[in-house]
Amino acid sequence: MTNPLAHAADAVRITEIFYSLQGEARTVGLPTVFVRLTGCPLRCVYCDTEYAFSGGELQSITQVAARVADYSPRYVTVTGGEPLAQRNCLPLLVALCDAGYEVSLETSGAVNVADVDPRVVKVLDLKTPASGEMARNDYSNIPLLTPRDQVKFVICDREDYDWARFKLDEYDLAGRVSDVLFSPSHGQLPPRELAEWILADNLPVRLQLQLHKLLWNDEPGH
Ligand code: SF4
Repeated sequence: MTNPLAHAADAVRITEIFYSLQGEARTVGLPTVFVRLTGCPLRCVYCDTEYAFSGGELQSITQVAARVADYSPRYVTVTGGEPLAQRNCLPLLVALCDAGYEVSLETSGAVNVADVDPRVVKVLDLKTPASGEMARNDYSNIPLLTPRDQVKFVICDREDYDWARFKLDEYDLAGRVSDVLFSPSHGQLPPRELAEWILADNLPVRLQLQLHKLLWNDEPGH
């Protein structure tokens, strides 16, 4: 779809902008505007946003900011796809921070985050073996994380859990970021099993269940 008001130099390709409850991370349950950018260079086996791989609509950063403002939110999450795959994601994040929102960025961990506005809370995935995309992890991102940020592991099986536990130690993640999130892959690993592993090992991590899946079973727009 083309938009005559959007020019490539100041445009982002958008799959959807919607208002919902945050389903994940530290602000779970809080009303949030989501800006979902189109496109992702990864193909995780459990991906639940394949509809964001292509299509979308070019919109100027000003247009996106205006649509976000319609909801008068406190929290805004920029997500994808992989939002940082679009160059103009960076100025979009700046514009949203300048507008006074509490902005978070959901990123796959495969793209360098060095130029992300420091006001943004980064929620960075580390892709596990069973994701099929472990080789894409850019570990040079880890030293760029601050105590405002969060690291997420989507865990599919015991091997993933053991791998995540190893990475937790290797990079002292619990000492580096505000939260380390262990999220069971929906439909693959029973949440209770993951809960029991975390308790047995006394891990300093937060079990994360995806609220939007419980509430809306992954319908786009929620
Ligand atoms: S990084 Fe996210 S959007 Fe991209 S394939 Fe993986 S789960 Fe899907």
